[in-house]
Amino acid sequence: MPNIYIVATPIGNLEDITLRALRILKEVDVVLCEDTRHTKRLLDKYEIKVETMSYHQHSKIAKIDKIVELLESGKHLALVSDAGTPGISDPGNMLVKHLVEKIIDVNIVPIPGPSAVISALSISGFPTDSFVFLGFAPHKKGRQTFFKNIAEEKRTVIFYESPHRILKALGSMQEFFPEKNIVVCRELTKIYETVYRGKPDEVAKKITPEQVKGEFVLVIF
Ligand code: SAM
Repeated sequence: MPNIYIVATPIGNLEDITLRALRILKEVDVVLCEDTRHTKRLLDKYEIKVETMSYHQHSKIAKIDKIVELLESGKHLALVSDAGTPGISDPGNMLVKHLVEKIIDVNIVPIPGPSAVISALSISGFPTDSFVFLGFAPHKKGRQTFFKNIAEEKRTVIFYESPHRILKALGSMQEFFPEKNIVVCRELTKIYETVYRGKPDEVAKKITPEQVKGEFVLVIF
């Protein structure tokens, strides 16, 4: 039976890749990438020569049919996203959903590794026995309700936020839950990795406009 491996790749530091992930990327027939140019950096670093094909959020149903065709012809595939674990707030889960729905004979195999959500949670110091991951905060519609719901939440909450809205998010947190503790994780595993901890107003004072660059995960308890 053909395999499609769902391979976690680094969220920044290219050393954060498992030996098994490297072996699988070398052994498969095709690597499906969210962005082939982005994944090329990783493949080049480990001298992996493999055929790549793009699969991203704008991929049409014809692309999924092509992937199904490859699997049905006995090819082994790997799916990677730009960062972390495919499917966690990225288009990978759509492909897995389609493959499950098409009920073709294929093994969907996880190759575990980094994910920004778990990395942030692991350094938060907040309860981890029960937590809620909310994906990306909504841009506009539903944004107020999003923060109101977090205010009511008893469990640790984690979400992803764009750098353009991080200051706005800090404002909402000061408004809706000034007494909660937050951890703002910026650029995890990268050169400018920074972690800010405190009440929302304390963190807001620590983050300067120049530091509102890069990728962010927010953890709240
Ligand atoms: N699949 C990925 C994972 O497993 O973490 C997440 C993909 S999602 C499209 C990208 C978002 O994850 C970014 O906008 C940011 O919120 C978060 N993220 C990814 N890498 C990060 C990093 N190194 N530091 C902080 N946040 C990161």
